[in-house]
Parts: sequence; C-alpha cells; structure tokens
Amino acid sequence: MTSDNTPSFPAAESAATGDENSPGVGSIGVDTIGVDSIKGSQYWPASTLYVVATPIGNLSDISARAVQVLQAVDLIAAEDTRHSSGLIKHLEVDTPMIACHDHNEAAACKSVLDRLSAGQCVALISDAGTPLISDPGYKIVKSAREQGFRVAPIPGACAVISALSAAGLPTDRFAFEGFLPAKAQARQKRLQQLVDSNCTLVFYEAPHRIVATLQAMAEVFGAQRQAVLARELTKRYETIIDGSLAELASQVNADRNQQRGEMVILVSGSAALDDERSNEEQEADRVLRILLAELPAKQASTLAVQLTGLKKNYLYKRAIGFLSQDE
Ligand code: SAM
Repeated sequence: MTSDNTPSFPAAESAATGDENSPGVGSIGVDTIGVDSIKGSQYWPASTLYVVATPIGNLSDISARAVQVLQAVDLIAAEDTRHSSGLIKHLEVDTPMIACHDHNEAAACKSVLDRLSAGQCVALISDAGTPLISDPGYKIVKSAREQGFRVAPIPGACAVISALSAAGLPTDRFAFEGFLPAKAQARQKRLQQLVDSNCTLVFYEAPHRIVATLQAMAEVFGAQRQAVLARELTKRYETIIDGSLAELASQVNADRNQQRGEMVILVSGSAALDDERSNEEQEADRVLRILLAELPAKQASTLAVQLTGLKKNYLYKRAIGFLSQDE
C-alpha cells in the first residue's frame, strides 16, 4: 500500500472513543468492512505489526476487525501460506503473503522488520487461532517491539480460552501448559512437576497420544482428579466430555471417535482435592518434605512409612513428585 515512509493508514481519531491512545476501538460493523471505510474511522498508525487471530474451525469466528486488517495491511506473514490461502480467498482478501514458520523465522523476521522500517504495516497469522500460542511468531513480535515498532493484537479464537470458557472448571486461575513432551519419560516428569499445582491445568494434545496422556495423568495426578476433554471446538463434531481422569482415559480408549481431531485437556487443580485428602496424607506430605531436605527419595519414603504408617509405594511416588517440582 505504501512504498515510502508515508503511513499505510492515515491516522484518524478512534470513532468510538475519540481517544487516540485506543487504536482500533472504532465501531465498524461487519457490513462496513472495506479499506475505504477503515481509513476514515480508526486510528491506523504506520509501521505497525498486527498479530491477528484466525478461526480454530468455524470460519465465521474471524472478527470484522481482523478481516479489515488483513485487507488493509501491506503484507501478511503466515505460518503456512498454502494453508492460509483458503481462508484469505474465503475472506476475499488480496494482500500478498510470505511464509513465516519455525524453520525460516529469522529470514521472515528480517523481511517483516524491513517492511515496518519502510513505514508499511504487516499482519502476522498462524494456521489457526492466536499466533504465538503454541504457534510461531515469538521472534518477530519480540524483535519488532525491541526495535520500537508498534505491535497490536487483533484478538479472536484461541483453543485454550475457548475450552476453558465451556469446561466448567475453575477459571479464576489457570496454567496453560501447551503440549507435553512426546516421550513417555519426559511427559511423566513434567506431570510430576505439576502434581501439586492448585490451579486448572490446560494442555494441548495430539490425537495419537491422547490415550497414553490421559492414562499417564490418571497415574500421576490420581485416578479421581476431575478433568475435561474438549475436542474439535467450533467444528461439526465438537465434543466436550468430563469425568475423573480414570473415567476419561477409559472412555477415550474405548471409543476411537474420541481419539480424532484437535483436542484440549483440562485438569482441575490439586486444591480441589485438598479437602478429600485425609489428615494422614497431609501429615505424610509434611513429613516427607522434611526428610527429603536431607535424604534421597528412597530412604525418605522408607522412614516415612515408619512415621506415618502409609504405604511405601504411595510415599515414594509423592517423594518423586516433590523432587521433580523442586528441580
Ligand atoms: N494457536 C492455536 C490457538 O490459538 O489455540 C493453537 C495452535 S496448536 C499448533 C494446535 C493445537 O491447538 C491442537 O493440537 C489442539 O490441541 C489445539 N486446538 C486447535 N484447534 C482446536 C479445536 N478446534 N478444538 C480443540 N483443540 C484445538
């Protein structure tokens, strides 16, 4: 849209607020999508990198503002241009695209920064959902900010937030864990580090690993810990099931359909279990922590058996869990 240092979008006051510190708060309706209407009604500074969320399934989940930005910028940096070309075509956007994925992020980053330096605006998109959320883009956003360019989010679909909004688990505090390690041992270790986390835990998972992961979670977090599997959100076969980890693991194992598509696992925090843990178990945790300060897990749990009367296997697993949390 520009080839010199003139802004791609002329600055205009924000239609809704009149506050020039609130770019993009304008109240453009879906029926007014189009570059001409954008120019007069929002504040569009030059040299801006827009981080644009795209749908995670249902194409109608793209926001009106996202479409406006994709149409109006000089360049779209897409995780996979072939993948995004379907969406771009569907939106009738004709902005040129370049690829920006994990393997070429340094080169793509340079191209984007060159454009921003020339006063142009660039939109960053990933294959689905919000860029940088288990998706590429971190390097570009970090570099753009370091070089003093404006970086503006264009919010929209995100699987972690969509899943949380419908799961019925506490959302006042949650931890997004992204993808667990693929290898069983590393996954087990990561889960052990999380065993006492008392906020809702959210994971992305691939279909071919879902059964093994739910089983590992049941083993480490306890069979009775409540969890939710949110699958194919916003799509035709959207399914949200809940139950204890043991129930979910067995239900998913028994039904191949539950092993298909895209999925988010949500696990309730350990605080929810505190009331259910017996006084003996809570006392055993206290004793174990004291012993572990001086002794390896095996000896600590052997001594804890004598002090608490609880089973050695249980105490040893708790000890290993505490040690991995402290690493
Ligand atoms: N950036 C995306 C976002 O904002 O959610 C996430 C990209 S990550 C590469 C892809 C993972 O997100 C999938 O493997 C799945 O765990 C989760 N995901 C994406 N779309 C989903 C959907 N429609 N339903 C459930 N999970 C989804």
